[in-house]
Amino acid sequence: MDFPSHMLWALFLARVLGISNWTLFAFFAVFPDLAFSTPLLVAWAGKSFRGSFRSRREIRNLVAGRFGWIKKVYRVAHSFVTAALFGLFGWLVYGQVMLPALAGWLLHCVFDLFVHKGGVVEAEPLYPLRYRVNGFIHWSDRRFLLLNYCLLAIAYAWLLFWR
Ligand SMILES: [Zn+2]
Repeated sequence: MDFPSHMLWALFLARVLGISNWTLFAFFAVFPDLAFSTPLLVAWAGKSFRGSFRSRREIRNLVAGRFGWIKKVYRVAHSFVTAALFGLFGWLVYGQVMLPALAGWLLHCVFDLFVHKGGVVEAEPLYPLRYRVNGFIHWSDRRFLLLNYCLLAIAYAWLLFWR
């Protein structure tokens, strides 16, 4: 799913569920995308790509070649296994304070599980275990974007006017 949608759904859910540490929850709800897109953007800014991001095919070609490691970073960041290990480690070191972080990370993984059909990187929710999920639709599909942003508008209207 796109970055703003992840953030907006996380902020909405944090408000509805009364998550007190909503900044931690919202940050980790976008963290998996930051984890793989930051090195990608740094590499691009360093003109390593010698190109621009004009199409999904272009990105697919780039990560199929010498930037194949980005696929690995993506899979690690979008894995329930990684999130669970992070949650366990965070709980052992910091206690319950880290629960919103884990919840945000899991929320991101759940959303992306269904909306990456035919994407640049196939979803492997249990990475490093090989188990691929195709999803129902790609998040950049206009029909999904329209539905998603309509639902977000309804959700926020409900928060503002009827709750
Ligand atoms: Zn993602």
